[in-house]
Amino acid sequence: MRDFSADHRWLSINTATLRGAGPLDRILDACARHGIRAISPWRDQVAAIGMKKCAALVKSHGLALSGYCRGGMFPAMDAAGLRLALDDNRRAVDEAKMLDATCLVLVVGSLPGALAGKPQSNDLFAARRDVHDGIAATLEYAKSVGMPLAIEPLHPMYAADRACVNTIEQALELCDAIDPRPASTSNGALAPLGVAVDVYHIWWDPKLEAQIARAGRDRLLAFHVCDWLVPTKDLLNDRGMMGDGVIEIPRIRGWVEAAGFAGYSEVEIFSTQDWWKRPEDEVLATCIARHRTVV
Ligand code: ZN
Repeated sequence: MRDFSADHRWLSINTATLRGAGPLDRILDACARHGIRAISPWRDQVAAIGMKKCAALVKSHGLALSGYCRGGMFPAMDAAGLRLALDDNRRAVDEAKMLDATCLVLVVGSLPGALAGKPQSNDLFAARRDVHDGIAATLEYAKSVGMPLAIEPLHPMYAADRACVNTIEQALELCDAIDPRPASTSNGALAPLGVAVDVYHIWWDPKLEAQIARAGRDRLLAFHVCDWLVPTKDLLNDRGMMGDGVIEIPRIRGWVEAAGFAGYSEVEIFSTQDWWKRPEDEVLATCIARHRTVV
């Protein structure tokens, strides 16, 4: 397992962590100030300052992208809705490519309308079928431009509205169904379809170690860290800073690295009431300190 105690070269900042700091250009300047080498930006943040400006800043600051957030949200009630989702995912692939991201992260979606608080269906099986078909169609395009897709299983508390894929095992079943591994492996290359392991979503899973091992080097495309606070006050926006909660992050990172993952530990904290209210320099200094001590 890599030693993170001496520096933060393997720290990536998911730019949602600094949503309180304002527009993305300001966030990227702050990251550069703190010697951050990698980021994972969100599409809305990129759109707000423009792709051209974002790409120029990424280049001038010498930043790598540990991922691009996000594609997905495939399920819909009708063919037109499914088509819209596929078109949007194609654009997300193109944007990820323009920024040379390691992967496009997929939050796959679930019951149509649920995210807006008005589920139009309670057919989780139909949602899963749409997710399968949506990923398969998007993968075809993503492969043609060379952009890996990372399915991010979300905690089951989001099963109705954000993702009907809730465990690494379930994500890997999808990977194996849609993009079976070639008989002869592996030159160390990333698979075109894999998983994003976010400790916030999967830390509780009794099968976690085995499923991470099963994923292997080629399907482990991203590793996200934050912490699970007790109590958690908000289902979406009360993620903790690493070390402030109950997730054994080093143990999980050990499993991920034992499987061959050698990429960034990406800090992704949604925190309306705490970290988003603090100055960006304090947030980044804390991310760096915790990365060195508890990740
Ligand atoms: Zn994540």
